[in-house]
This record gives sequence, C-alpha cells and structure tokens, in this order.
Amino acid sequence: METRILSGKKVSSSFYTSIKPRIDSLKSSDIIPGLAVLLVGDNAASAVYVRNKTKKFNELGLYSDTITFSDSVSQDEIISKIQELNLNQSFHGILVQLPLPDQINDDIIINSIDPKKDVDGFHPYNLGCLISGKSGFVPCTPKGIMRILDYYDIDLSNKHVVVVGRSNIVGRPISILTSMKKKFSNATTTLCHSGTKNISQYTQNADVVILALGSPEYLTDKDVKEGTVIIDVGINRIKDSTEKGFKLVGDADYESMIDHAGAITPVPGGVGPMTIAMLVENTVEAAEKSINSSL
Ligand code: NDP
Repeated sequence: METRILSGKKVSSSFYTSIKPRIDSLKSSDIIPGLAVLLVGDNAASAVYVRNKTKKFNELGLYSDTITFSDSVSQDEIISKIQELNLNQSFHGILVQLPLPDQINDDIIINSIDPKKDVDGFHPYNLGCLISGKSGFVPCTPKGIMRILDYYDIDLSNKHVVVVGRSNIVGRPISILTSMKKKFSNATTTLCHSGTKNISQYTQNADVVILALGSPEYLTDKDVKEGTVIIDVGINRIKDSTEKGFKLVGDADYESMIDHAGAITPVPGGVGPMTIAMLVENTVEAAEKSINSSL
C-alpha cells in the first residue's frame, strides 16, 4: 500500500497564506502582534526551538523578543519579568520555553502568565477551557496535529485513535481534541503511557496512532495494522557520522512504515512546522482579542 506523506511544511505554508489578511488588518490598526519568549539556561535544543520560532515571527513581520536568563536564575526573578510582560501592551503573547532548571517550578511559572497572553495554552485556565469545550488558547502542537488531519481530509469520526504519551503539552490535550464531539473529531481515544502494559496490543487495533513519548523509532510496522495513520510528534537526536554528529528521528520507525502505514508525518517536516504555525495563530488571536474583548 502506498503511504501518504502528511507534510506539515505544506500545511503550514498554506496556513501562512491564509493568516496574512488578519495580520494586515491588525497592522492597519497600528497593532503588530508581539511575542515575548523567556529562555532559561543553555539547553541546545531549546535554543534551536526558540530561534526557529522567532525567525518565523520576523519573516512574517511580527514582533518578538527573547529574554534570556542564566541557569542559576531564581523563580522570583522569572515571575517578576512575567508580571512586567503581562502589563506590557507590545506583547500579546508570552511563552516560557520548557524545560526549566530544577530549582524552578514549571507550574508556578506558567500560572503567573496572564491567561489572555498564554499563547502556548498551558495555563490551567486555558487547559480548563479545552476540557470543557470553551474558547481559549489550545496548545500549539495538538492544535497543529488537528490542522494536519483536517488539511488531508482525515476524519476521526468513529475511528479508534491511540495516543502514546500523556504530557500536558501534547499527549493529554490531543486525547481531548480527538475525542471531542465535533467535526473531524468524535474518535474513541485510548491514552497509553509508561504505565500501560503491552502498548502494541492497543496500537494494533488503532486506525490512527499519535506518538508523543520521545523514544527514537519506538513504533514499527509490526505494531500497527496496514493502513494505519501515524502522527509522529517525537523529535529525538540520534548520533550519526555526519558533520553535525546527529540526526533527528521521530518516535516511529519511518522506514518500516513506508508502504505499510496509510499515512505518516515525517520527522522533521511533519508536526514541528505546525507547532510554530499555531503559535503564530494564537499570538495573532491574542492581538485581535486585545482590541476586541468580545472575541
Ligand atoms: P514528556 O517527556 O513530557 O512526556 C512523554 C510521555 O510519554 C509521558 O507521558 C511518558 O509517560 C510517556 N512515555 C515515555 N516513554 C514511554 C514508553 N516507553 N512507553 C510508553 N509511554 C512512554 O514529553 P513531551 O510530551 O513534551 O514530548 C514528547 C516528544 O515529542 C518528545 O520527543 C519531544 O521532543 C517531542 N515534541 C515535539 C514537538 C513538535 O513540535 N514536533 C512539540 C513538543 C514535543 P509517563 O507520563 O508515565 O512518564
């Protein structure tokens, strides 16, 4: 069976064309959507993610600023910066790049962001909106996955979706989005994690598998039936002999899935570009809401 490649690059490119009029309309009201990014410590992967996000903001003529802190920064210093940014009207969105060093409590930091500027959608207020089906910021990666499925006309209605990984950032919110009673959702969703015995028995009965565990090439063709749709969120560095010394692979064994899976998102070029695209969308939405509180 020929495997369809679900290109996040293609979907994001179409998204950037469609969001342009909204950006132009804000600019005509002298509003440039602005994002403040807080980057703590010297985690190489975090620095790359932040660079990619701010590069895209610059390309689109949006405003972004990265505020860096050393590894030894105190929790109070970060909170005080966030409180300042909450009041700064140039920034419609605030993002704290995770993970944070051990002395900092992620939850306390996220809770100090004004929910109206929480464009990552990690604040309990926005997660509560997600669970109760109310309007709020939806976390970017799960939101981006739903857009990929929508773009490629993959309707989840009456399907069995198996999610592997239950983080607040990806696994848990995508399990909620896929099982919502609405168009393109309405799936029966099973959420697997490190406490699940024999995950393969679930994935073998899935129509769609969403992998968000962070384990290189974990799922192979033996774990899924022919025709299964694979959404691979994982980004894992594995050593190789190139100049860089590593390559990126997903949580699926991509090679073994080709001609077996019905469709698959590649790594890189699959879910990753959509995460950035949805960050742009959430920031534009925050800017729109700042001038029209009825939105
Ligand atoms: P976390 O480490 O926060 O969560 C991983 C989840 O997977 C946990 O629920 C954990 O279980 C579960 N898990 C880990 N190993 C296994 C295993 N062997 N079997 C079953 N379950 C397992 O990771 P994130 O959700 O933040 O990220 C997951 C992956 O997605 C990473 O590779 C990350 O780099 C990538 N990512 C990619 C993004 C993109 O834009 N493409 C965006 C965000 C993340 P338990 O809860 O029991 O610990």
